[in-house]
Amino acid sequence: MSAFVGDTRLSQVIVIGGGPVGLGLAIALGQRGIDCVLVERRTEPQPVPKGQNLTQRTMEHFHFWHAEDALRRARTIPPEYGIGGLTTYGTLLGDYRYDWLQRELVRDYYFTANERLPQYETEAVLRARVAKLPSVRTLYGSVARKVRQDASGVAVEIDGPDGVGRQILRAAYAVGCDGSHSLTRQEAGITQTLSDHDRRMVLLVFRSTELHELLKRYPGKSFYCVLHPDLKGYWRFFGRVDLGSTWFFHAPVPPGTTADNFDFHALLHASLGAPFDFTMEHVGFWDLRFAIADTYRQGRIFVAGDAAHSHPPYGGYGVNTGLEDATNLGWKLAATLAGWGGPALLDSYDAERRPVFASTARDFIEKAIRSDKEFLDAFDPARDRAAFEANWSRRAALARSEVGEFEPNYEGSPAVWGPPGASCSALGSHAFAARAGHHLAPRILSSGRNVFEELGDGFALLAFDAPDSAVESFEGAARALSVPLVTLRDSLAGGRERYGARLILVRPDQFVAWAGDAAPAAPIDVLRRAIGQPSGGGSANPA
Ligand SMILES: Cc1cc2nc3c(=O)[nH]c(=O)nc-3n(C[C@H](O)[C@H](O)[C@H](O)COP(=O)(O)OP(=O)(O)OC[C@H]3O[C@@H](n4cnc5c(N)ncnc54)[C@H](O)[C@@H]3O)c2cc1C
Repeated sequence: MSAFVGDTRLSQVIVIGGGPVGLGLAIALGQRGIDCVLVERRTEPQPVPKGQNLTQRTMEHFHFWHAEDALRRARTIPPEYGIGGLTTYGTLLGDYRYDWLQRELVRDYYFTANERLPQYETEAVLRARVAKLPSVRTLYGSVARKVRQDASGVAVEIDGPDGVGRQILRAAYAVGCDGSHSLTRQEAGITQTLSDHDRRMVLLVFRSTELHELLKRYPGKSFYCVLHPDLKGYWRFFGRVDLGSTWFFHAPVPPGTTADNFDFHALLHASLGAPFDFTMEHVGFWDLRFAIADTYRQGRIFVAGDAAHSHPPYGGYGVNTGLEDATNLGWKLAATLAGWGGPALLDSYDAERRPVFASTARDFIEKAIRSDKEFLDAFDPARDRAAFEANWSRRAALARSEVGEFEPNYEGSPAVWGPPGASCSALGSHAFAARAGHHLAPRILSSGRNVFEELGDGFALLAFDAPDSAVESFEGAARALSVPLVTLRDSLAGGRERYGARLILVRPDQFVAWAGDAAPAAPIDVLRRAIGQPSGGGSANPA
């Protein structure tokens, strides 16, 4: 299939897969006026209550996608009820517990609060937003069959909805957001590195008002992780789908388990630590494993979301990581298609996002499984109560610090002016200081509005008591490179001094590209690196 035989329409980007990540990417592109087509097999979102835990950072994406209010309205748990997590020992009703995944501890570093709702509700909101973007064409009920590329474009063969038949779509770029079994990844010849934990997992969805009554003892909690000595660090996990009746549960089950040969009632009762009435609504399975694509780009084809990385749903990293992929790739594709993105910009997507996932898997998810196992092997309240309780308290403190340590950053990116020798990682720290390669913290401006309300779809220069000449030199550089730039001038007071810099160059994804107190010698070189253009000078920080 040549990229240009039999094609009828030409788009700029074909997004294959319209789960949350494909929809988010289509919005990021469509809002920038990029002509794209989204191909999605399902006519309606899949009614499985996964991907519920949305971080503050994810909610910032929804803010910029003009879909935050709609998403909050779609929440299935009333706003006055908490969406916190709890870890317990032995059974959900057991004697030992601590608060877990307290995202409110890092709330101040983000513009928006976190949220919780089933993924199908999130997808419905995203579908509604996509429908309002004239440059995005959606082909729901269509299945991608082949993906090809040549030097000048991509071609995607699809089976349209009933009666439409086979078509070939063509565009400058294709992005596979088609989930962990991604056809796009395979068609592009992108290999994966797997680390198989060799666990069959069950996902149950059930209704029970009695469980709601029993869990009233844990007010404000919506998800619950049960550590059990027999499970070698893997979890039994309960989550609310709404308040009062619907729940999901996942846990490891023996190899070969099917919906018909296993006693799920006994598993649920044992996990809770008491019998309770429920009605089963769904029994599904998946293999617990980690997978990461060996590259996120092959020529004109990219992968994002679960197509690029998949892992057990421990800690709610999946959809959040995928939506950050969409935001990162979205502005870079749009900049390239608009002509101001330099030749190295698209490669920085892989350079930034792949190490962040590798670190998420290694430093958070696998580490949690390993440390839970080590704890459960070493301590048992029946053997030595005092030692168990001392270490249980230590874990409670660690659970608090882990929320703060999850701070994906691109310090080592070729597209930011980070410190020498730095790398890109999910491990970091939250700070108000503007640090190159890190997410910008929100601050209130003298106008009373938040910085995040003033950032646009392009670059922004924050200038706090900075000399006019410094600002004008950045603005001149942006004009020379045709980079969209808004300037926000204000005083270095009222909390803004916590940025620790008078001049901050912010990327379209709200990450800091460069920060300093004085104008750099060559602002144009600062901007060139941020947009992936070769600079005239060396790689030293021009500041
Ligand atoms: C039980 C469970 C709980 C989870 N909980 C959380 C959580 O709390 N927080 C979190 O962040 N993540 C969670 N996750 C992970 C999260 O659900 C995934 O990371 C997320 O679905 C990834 O989104 P995606 O768009 O990349 O892929 P998907 O959601 O898999 O979407 C891919 C889309 O592509 C379509 N598609 C596939 N092939 C084709 C084709 N050839 N042609 C056309 N369309 C195609 C599919 O129909 C699908 O709609 C959980 C997962 C599970 C299983």
